[in-house]
Amino acid sequence: MPKTRLLTALFCLLCLLSASACDDSDSAQTLEKEKYTGVSTDFESGAIGRVVRNAPQNWDIYLAADNGNADLPDSYRNWWYIKVEDFNPGTEVKLTLKNRGWAYYYAPVFSYDKITWQRFDESEVTASDACDEGIEDCFLEIATDRFVQSPVYVARFYPYTTWDMYAYLDQIEASPWTTITTLGQTSGYGADIPFIKIEDPSVDDSLKRAVWIHARSHPAETASSYMLEGMINQFLDDLDAGLDAAKHLVFFVAPMHNIDGVIKGNYRTDLFSRNFEVMWYRDDADPLYLTDDSPVECRLLNQKMAELAQNTDYLSGMVGFNLHSSNSPVDTPAFAYPHFGDDPATYTAEEISLWKKSLYLIHLITQEYGFFSAPPAEGGSSFVTKYYPESWWWANMGDDCLAITIETVYSKGGMDHWLTRDDIRDLGVATTLALYDYAADPSAWGKKAISVGGGLPRLGVPNEDASKE
Ligand SMILES: [Zn+2]
Repeated sequence: MPKTRLLTALFCLLCLLSASACDDSDSAQTLEKEKYTGVSTDFESGAIGRVVRNAPQNWDIYLAADNGNADLPDSYRNWWYIKVEDFNPGTEVKLTLKNRGWAYYYAPVFSYDKITWQRFDESEVTASDACDEGIEDCFLEIATDRFVQSPVYVARFYPYTTWDMYAYLDQIEASPWTTITTLGQTSGYGADIPFIKIEDPSVDDSLKRAVWIHARSHPAETASSYMLEGMINQFLDDLDAGLDAAKHLVFFVAPMHNIDGVIKGNYRTDLFSRNFEVMWYRDDADPLYLTDDSPVECRLLNQKMAELAQNTDYLSGMVGFNLHSSNSPVDTPAFAYPHFGDDPATYTAEEISLWKKSLYLIHLITQEYGFFSAPPAEGGSSFVTKYYPESWWWANMGDDCLAITIETVYSKGGMDHWLTRDDIRDLGVATTLALYDYAADPSAWGKKAISVGGGLPRLGVPNEDASKE
């Protein structure tokens, strides 16, 4: 690891340790209690609330609200990541997950080194009967004798910490196509916010189309980072191979928007319990730059977005991705939130144009990946008056930027097995391949009837406002 990255990583670790020591007057007692219970969270992205040790190898673990903030909605409780020790390997360990914010069944993951992760089998994870009725008394019980060593790390889903991001940045930094810079520092811990530009610099800008990607506005939506790795890996491989389609794109990537939340172990918010996704505050009279009411993390990304919105060197018709992960039923595939619709009685020509571009790109991703939800019959326009990133792109670029949220999922995603990290990276690979086809033929963007056949049923997908707010 280069020295600067190592220092930044160590800095973040210090942030984490000081945060866990100061953010709560009960912290000393908490640490004492955790030491006693054999369950702890004093590592990056670690998170849990109350822990009750019922018997030597039987624990109740209660999900916590971000920052212990009881004012946050129930649906903001989802992420947990613990270290369990003080048990006999090869004998039964029980962990009962309580105070859940979502009632969906899932199989969590475990690891001995925080690098190699395994999923529990469905036979090891049982949901209480109450889960059919909602989150009240909806428990998830893990009972397993598969732990071969102690301690073991157990989590909601494959974690992806700043350490994972730095390791990945170190890996791609050697590429001749990448330039990695820092946008500024986060509002809480003052950690650097990395930014990646990827292109073949020998190709003139006038022959390139811009692609913006940002991820992890919601810090625990880790699957979006695996998708992002897949997108970048494919793009770099194709630039290495001299693929023409790759030479005519340029990627601008903010890989981790809410770094403080990731370090802290929050699910949706930063250290001040702010949900960045709904705080891209603009002044409609002059929407280019966000107002000072927006978190500094949004304003730092916004400066780069504003540069792109004003850039006339690139080909028109950019694409802007906002990557997330959604709680959903076990079989719901990844999905997107396209906007507007195709009814001229309801939508303007420009709105219909954005809708058609979005459906075309979804169609291409679906063709490449196979496991993607069909688009909704209509995307609606409620986002226009909200403060999502797509609202900002629309206010500034209209249909000249196809801005869209892609939601990865945590469970089976339409496949016959629980998703691996490579399954999710493959969605990123498919998205980059789809971008080549999309960018190659602008004449297809406005076609009246793009077939969206091949998408899997859009089941259990929350509406966009529910997903973001
Ligand atoms: Zn999200």
